[in-house]
Amino acid sequence: MGLIVQKFGGSSVANAERVFNVASRVIETYDNGNDVVVVVSAQGDTTDDLIEKAKEINDRASRREMDTLLSAGEQISMSLLAMAIQKLGRPAISLTGWQAGMITDSNYSKARVRRVTGERIRRELDNRNIVIVAGFQGINKYDDITTLGRGGSDTSAVAIAAALGADLCQIYTDVTGVFTSDPRIVKDARKLDTVSYDEMLELASLGANVLHNRSVELAKKFNVNLEVLSSLVKEPGTIVKEETNMEKMLVRGVARDNDVARISLCNVEDAPGKAFQVFSLLAKHKISVDIILQSIGRDNKKDISFTVDLDALDGALKVLEENNGIIGAESIVHYDNVSKVSIVGAGMVSNPGVAATMFEALYNAGINIQMISTSEIKISVLIEQEHAEKAVRAIHEKFHLGA
Ligand code: ADP
Ligand code: ASP
Ligand code: MG
Repeated sequence: MGLIVQKFGGSSVANAERVFNVASRVIETYDNGNDVVVVVSAQGDTTDDLIEKAKEINDRASRREMDTLLSAGEQISMSLLAMAIQKLGRPAISLTGWQAGMITDSNYSKARVRRVTGERIRRELDNRNIVIVAGFQGINKYDDITTLGRGGSDTSAVAIAAALGADLCQIYTDVTGVFTSDPRIVKDARKLDTVSYDEMLELASLGANVLHNRSVELAKKFNVNLEVLSSLVKEPGTIVKEETNMEKMLVRGVARDNDVARISLCNVEDAPGKAFQVFSLLAKHKISVDIILQSIGRDNKKDISFTVDLDALDGALKVLEENNGIIGAESIVHYDNVSKVSIVGAGMVSNPGVAATMFEALYNAGINIQMISTSEIKISVLIEQEHAEKAVRAIHEKFHLGA
């Protein structure tokens, strides 16, 4: 018996039948004597549909209004689930982000959780209510609604689990756990029994959207017991935890991210301070840069290429073009038909040859590499987007990750 936070994603609450399925799983936990807080996402494609609706009205809608609109999706799920639980004869109450005390900063559309006051949740739990909280949303210091970024309900759940000191945070989704790669792309992907916070953080940040990367960051920081499991199939899921040495695997998983774009500054002067100029400018505008490639100077000129998140592309190009008087690039070109494919594994650092094996897999599949970046626990390559799935499968096979 303890306090358990359970989060159910969009597909898990997509229709009335699924809502009742969730209700009965929640009740099972509750009837075992636990306090239960449930975090829900918007049903099915609701968030995408709301974005489309907004575009019909104003395709450059303010981020504040977008957040207000999108938060409605989770508000529908939370009350429907409360109704279902009540119908099954247990006490339940739903709370919005602000009612639950989810305080965020004011970075609309990707707000970060500052703290969770959680008083109301505790009070409702003390009354033996099952508490259902709308995921993905919070409130800022102006009392405005904010959202945490796509997939952010995972982060709501972990933040609540951390704030309440929950014994366990379960993320229920449409797959049975975290796999060596997206099971939709790789048919023989294998479920991992455990994965370390660090590996999961890399996987999530590199495109394995089974968990929102911020949720993993928070789980690590506050040592939250995290489990990813299926809302439909009853079997043990994947435990995300602090790493134990024994499990250091060479390659843990392969991830793909299509939401990236490449920018190249061609023929800038090959002089000290150019990179500083370009990247400090982007940093000033809060644009994160990922893979960076600079060519060797020739004739006193060089090229600087880098990748940004796709949704930062327009902003980055605007800033660079406005400041090209100082930067002095002959041309600024961009390309967004790219994909970043990565391998992650804590054991990589002590094993030479991992990169070579990954590149060999790509070579055998006839796939050209545009850019490369490495760190202690990951290697990423930028490739043509149309080859991304083939690349993931080839790499997965080369490292014998399959079941
Ligand atoms: P939810 O709506 O429950 O939040 P998501 O769609 O956000 O679900 O995340 C689950 C999906 O993540 C799976 O359906 C799967 O296609 C995808 N996915 C990507 N990489 C992985 C991985 N390594 N392991 C498991 N699922 C993954
Ligand atoms: N409904 C939001 C989204 O689709 C949040 C979530 O599902 O976690 O991104
Ligand atoms: Mg999700």
